[in-house]
Amino acid sequence: MEVVVRFAPSPTGPLHIGGVRTALYNYLLYKKHGGRFILRIEDTDQNRFVPGAEEFVLESLAWMGIDFSEGPGKEGESGPYRQSERHKAGLYTPFAEQLVRGGHAYLAFDTPEELDAMREKMTAEGHKSGAPYSFATRHQMKNSLSLTPEEVQARIDAGEPYVIRMLMPRKEEIRFYDEVHQWVMFHSSQLDDKVLVKSDGMPTYHLANVVDDHLMGVTHVIRGEEWLSSTPLHVMLYRAFGWERSIPAFVHLPLILNPNGEGKMSKRMGDKLGFSVFPISWTDPETGNHSFGFREAGYLPEAMMNFLALLGWNPGHDEEIMDAARMAEAFSLEKVNNSGTKFDIDKLKWFNQTYIRAAKPAHLLPVVKPLVAAAGFAVPEDAFLEEAIHLMQERVTLLPDFVQDCRFFFEAPTAYDAKMSSKFGPKEREVMEGLATKWENLTTWDLDSLHATFEAIKLEMEVGNGKVLAPLRLALTGVPAGPGAFEIAALIGKNESVARIRAALKNIPLGTA
Ligand code: GLU
Repeated sequence: MEVVVRFAPSPTGPLHIGGVRTALYNYLLYKKHGGRFILRIEDTDQNRFVPGAEEFVLESLAWMGIDFSEGPGKEGESGPYRQSERHKAGLYTPFAEQLVRGGHAYLAFDTPEELDAMREKMTAEGHKSGAPYSFATRHQMKNSLSLTPEEVQARIDAGEPYVIRMLMPRKEEIRFYDEVHQWVMFHSSQLDDKVLVKSDGMPTYHLANVVDDHLMGVTHVIRGEEWLSSTPLHVMLYRAFGWERSIPAFVHLPLILNPNGEGKMSKRMGDKLGFSVFPISWTDPETGNHSFGFREAGYLPEAMMNFLALLGWNPGHDEEIMDAARMAEAFSLEKVNNSGTKFDIDKLKWFNQTYIRAAKPAHLLPVVKPLVAAAGFAVPEDAFLEEAIHLMQERVTLLPDFVQDCRFFFEAPTAYDAKMSSKFGPKEREVMEGLATKWENLTTWDLDSLHATFEAIKLEMEVGNGKVLAPLRLALTGVPAGPGAFEIAALIGKNESVARIRAALKNIPLGTA
């Protein structure tokens, strides 16, 4: 059987990191089995449409390296991929009509005021959901079940607005198998008569979602746990359409929880703890509020992908570092956790660090380069930058560290560490003078010749390593930690290295030590 999965975001706001994980699990299953991975934009709720949200999804998935096989901008066999376009193409109407004809749905003419009144009445009578429409109330309302066919026709002819509602049977058991939650049971009496088509003729999420999953031949519905409670209605729709035999497998992913384990990971908690809940940065088109994303914070998409995959999936072995191909190979729905997983930012940092360490400098070059430019430095040549990356990658956690923690690659120190400066005493100065002279006279400038001068100066001045290395690091970088001083000197070159030693001798006041 061909595996067909889909990621079906609604463009009602910026894609949350939980949504990215949903997309990723779809992707991993698709990568494992082949088949199709459809990106479908569920934009039937025009009131909640947020400009830019669809572009945000596309850019986020592209950044993460989550490639769908069909979707907006990537036409395949089951387009169009925006539900608004599918609606315009008249795709949903026949299905709504089929349900009405078959007695599974009906027309309802109630005004918002009438619905509110019923909602209040139901709530007052102690009905938990307060839903105005169900088997208990539908006969008291204005619809094609309670009105005569002539009355219904007269209302339609008069242009009265109406919705189409699901006729939820009173006594049906709804049982479905979920790959994560196993058997899930509902009873139809718990469900209300949901609107399937709105008064403007637009299908609601439920109708469009089920019709599209069917038309697109979706075999696995992988989505967040918050949709579990909609699934019985979807199952009833499959039944009503007579599609039960081809019903997809359901996979409801557990929530990603706040680090303290309390509740779904929220933007509020992220803000409080200083991390994002968005893959990339987002500017709210209404308020202009800007939120940074993991990309801007300096995470590599490969690290993010690895981390997110393991946030809710347990591959059943100790291997933690896995690329997309390896994860796809090991992926299985049975190993998806059935309870929420805490978001652990330190773990993500560890993944990032590990990926940065393992990366080829040339791979990091395109992401580090703009950071150098953004910090206001002249961008050095690629070969220089690659070597700087190579020297730093063991020490970096987030990409901006490549610039912040090693400004000395891009400019001479503008200040000197106070504690180290206090130890820049007469002997250290003498050693630095001697070293600068030796370096000026060097005809080859590489690590070997630099080490030779190091050995020579130690002998001549009768000092140990520390009396050379510490003042040299201070002169070259101004800071106490970083890659080896000779590696730095080899990279920045003879003139620059000598100039930095001379500048240090001039600018650092005579130490006390
Ligand atoms: N449009 C829904 C969402 O925004 C999709 C749920 C589903 O995958 O069925 O999450």
